[in-house]
Amino acid sequence: MREELVALAKLAEMDDSARDIDAELKTIPQELEELRASVQMLENMLAQERQQLVEAEQLKAQQGAELKERGEGLQRARKKVAQAANMREASAAEREVEANRRAIKEREEELSRIGDTIEAKTASLAEREKDFEEAKGVLQTQEESSKARVAELEEQRGKLLDGREDLAAKVPKNVVKRYERLRGGLTNAVIIIKDGTCSACRMALPPQLTIELQRANELHQCPHCRRIIIHKTLLED
Ligand SMILES: [Zn+2]
Repeated sequence: MREELVALAKLAEMDDSARDIDAELKTIPQELEELRASVQMLENMLAQERQQLVEAEQLKAQQGAELKERGEGLQRARKKVAQAANMREASAAEREVEANRRAIKEREEELSRIGDTIEAKTASLAEREKDFEEAKGVLQTQEESSKARVAELEEQRGKLLDGREDLAAKVPKNVVKRYERLRGGLTNAVIIIKDGTCSACRMALPPQLTIELQRANELHQCPHCRRIIIHKTLLED
């Protein structure tokens, strides 16, 4: 088992050397995704504001039409006042005049409010458009630099892991499998034991285990943290 364990230790050392690269390779697409999501959010907000502006313009047109109608109604009511044949008709026509006047005042106030809203929305829309264009630019730059960085990292990784397959072939398949599984959850799945302590979890190993580690007859794992442990003397010969 000795040779296999030595190969495993070398394999783990190789993987360790590429650990930072692997981490960065994992982070890059995540960061890009976050950036894309924020650009998408800005785009959604922009669409929403555009829609609100369209709705405000529609409301303005509708209120404008009503104002015009009320204006015509007022003229008709005034005519009725002038042509009233008796007091009853005159006071009914006066009430009509008053109702139209009130409606006109309300419409005018409403139109003024809508006008303010449109003005504010137009200004914030311009801001949003600027933010969106900026964010799109940042994303594009980031996408390009990320692509270059990934290529650079892949090349470095390829160099560091050159010969990994040959090394892995020297380790029994079930051991490789166990190592890969441990590596999925732990930063360093293989620990070289220098004294009676696991340097990863800092727990003392049973003395008998330390002796067995030096015999290298089988694969051992730290009883506390489950990492594969290999005695340093194996690597020294
Ligand atoms: Zn441990």
